[in-house]
Amino acid sequence: MLIRKLNNADLWKKIQKLRDLIKSEDNFKERKCWNCGKELNIYDFLSDNVNFTPEYILKLWQNSYLEFHCCECFRNLKINELIKIEQELDRRHCLFCESPIDIYKFSKFHNYLKIYELRNLWLDENFKIFCDNLCQRKYYKTYYDFLNKKKLKKQNKLIQQKE
Ligand SMILES: [Zn+2]
Ligand SMILES: [Zn+2]
Repeated sequence: MLIRKLNNADLWKKIQKLRDLIKSEDNFKERKCWNCGKELNIYDFLSDNVNFTPEYILKLWQNSYLEFHCCECFRNLKINELIKIEQELDRRHCLFCESPIDIYKFSKFHNYLKIYELRNLWLDENFKIFCDNLCQRKYYKTYYDFLNKKKLKKQNKLIQQKE
């Protein structure tokens, strides 16, 4: 993903900052996945949440009310959540080519979304859904061509009226 790549230098700075913060933390927590017991790494946690500051990451990590899970368990949990959403609405169609799309494909296309955001958009009739970027681009191109033609027609009419 482009955003991730752009953030690499930024991420590196954050990792170093986090390292310093951990050094000055007296009671740094060891974390295990609450589901499978696998040991967790705070730097993985940071790189999964690049939008958070190192201070905030450490604060979350040290919070004794929060439970964390590893990537694999997270993926499995996500699949269970997707199954639930599928039961609410199992199919939508690409606005451009009209081929059917299921929630799994949709979630891959929008993998940056949180599960509740994914659900809200999936269930929102007004949200435009496409197979992929290509269909999306074609759709908007057709749409803008249509608008431009309309505009052109209007302009031509105005010109003709003036003449
Ligand atoms: Zn786990
Ligand atoms: Zn399509």
